[in-house]
Amino acid sequence: MSENIIELKGLTKRYGYGDTESFALKDFDLTIKRGEFIMIMGPSGCGKTTLLDIIGLLDRATYGDYYLNGENVASISARRQARLRAKKIGFIFQNFNLIEDLPVIENVALPLVYTGHTKTSRLKHASSVLKRFNLEEKEYYLPYQLSGGQQQRVSIARAIVGSPEIILADEPTGNLDSRASFAVMEELKSIHDEGNTIIMVTHNPALTVYATRVIHMLDGQIDTDVKTVADANLPQPISVKIKKHKPEINLPGDEGKHKPKKRKKSRRKH
Ligand code: ADP
Ligand code: MG
Repeated sequence: MSENIIELKGLTKRYGYGDTESFALKDFDLTIKRGEFIMIMGPSGCGKTTLLDIIGLLDRATYGDYYLNGENVASISARRQARLRAKKIGFIFQNFNLIEDLPVIENVALPLVYTGHTKTSRLKHASSVLKRFNLEEKEYYLPYQLSGGQQQRVSIARAIVGSPEIILADEPTGNLDSRASFAVMEELKSIHDEGNTIIMVTHNPALTVYATRVIHMLDGQIDTDVKTVADANLPQPISVKIKKHKPEINLPGDEGKHKPKKRKKSRRKH
């Protein structure tokens, strides 16, 4: 299968005007196929984070088109952006971005808040994902009680808990020693082997062995773009979807789509 999951056409991100005008991305074109594991490299300031933020619908380009699964999402409303982001994209950051006063299990369950799962089922699912990362004993620890490597594996659990199609990682091993980096990369590899699309920014050339494609950026543009795995050999997606419970909350924009039938009895609270 070689379906385009992302197409960027002529993306430009401009900051400032006139004398202060600068471009974080310049007329940027990129097509990403489902199942690619892309590593993005390049000097500080070349636009890597800007690119990831735009792909992750956290930011918008000044001009250009962004097709996500064939739909142009460049100028959709912030509300629809948020909804697509919650459904399709998982984020992993250099500094983990865990919420300090929430136990690990609740951090992992957070992205499920808007999916319509009950709290019990969200925690159950978070727990099963933590088990996959051998972190089941840390469920009720607070983030600071974990090592950096463990915190990053918690944040990977949080990134995949909603079964997103795309994982974005901005220097996920930047704050880790080599042993913890290896553990994190092995987890990302197993997520990729399941057919997920991963786009990761790194400064560490040694990590490119995990990638199917390595893109070097320079001044907001692609400098080199090398595929190390043919499109035909990218991993096929295997469905590891969570058993969905009936949505109890309608997502913004879903109004009227899953109108629950009127019930005589009021719903039991969970
Ligand atoms: P990288 O992640 O490759 O280090 P960034 O995407 O963070 O690069 O930044 C690309 C360029 O855009 C840099 O020159 C940076 O200074 C500029 N930039 C990023 N964010 C802003 C902003 N909010 N205002 C002005 N310039 C910005
Ligand atoms: Mg950056």
